[in-house]
Amino acid sequence: MPFQVLDHPLAGHLLASLRDKSTPPERFRSLTESLTTLLVLQATTGIRTREATVETPLKVTEVRLLDQSLAIIPVLRAGLGMVGPVLHLFPDVAVGYIGLARNEETAVAHTYYKNLPGLAGKYTLCLDPMLATGGSASQAIHMIKSHGATQVTMVSIVAAPEGVEKLLREHPDVNIVSASLDEGLNDKKYIVPGLGDFGDRLFGTP
Ligand code: URA
Repeated sequence: MPFQVLDHPLAGHLLASLRDKSTPPERFRSLTESLTTLLVLQATTGIRTREATVETPLKVTEVRLLDQSLAIIPVLRAGLGMVGPVLHLFPDVAVGYIGLARNEETAVAHTYYKNLPGLAGKYTLCLDPMLATGGSASQAIHMIKSHGATQVTMVSIVAAPEGVEKLLREHPDVNIVSASLDEGLNDKKYIVPGLGDFGDRLFGTP
């Protein structure tokens, strides 16, 4: 399924506090990490595994091991808040970075930084908490594909229908996992009801 909303009571509970405008940055960061853990579990269900055996203290048993490298590409700066939990879950993950700045008037993004590893064969997650117009996500995914990625999942915390439609249209091979599909965008291209400017709330900037 290319677009999935994580339907889990804990995800809803964490998202409720993220949306609350009185949540301070320190708490916002820890909520982001907890919710990202849940989203990444869902987003990595398709990663390749292989069968193996291990010996428990009681007997030899069959197990499944990861058999594919994982890469994450956070989109700066808000995506940085989603990196920690993935490093924790998958210590061998390769991390690349894409810096996209959104022009507040036009909501069009330009690339100011790019540092991507080779992504051929890697199960790749693009991390950007707010999938708004889909412009920067689509740009980021073009760059990710040009570095060899063929299995890409976009992981967002909140998505707008406009962004989801654009990504599905421009990248029908990409999966999207989000904690919410919100109502839409306002005239400043912010997600409504959303949670405001994610980067500002994460880093305590006005
Ligand atoms: N980026 C944000 O941080 N918030 C939005 O609502 C849209 C884009």
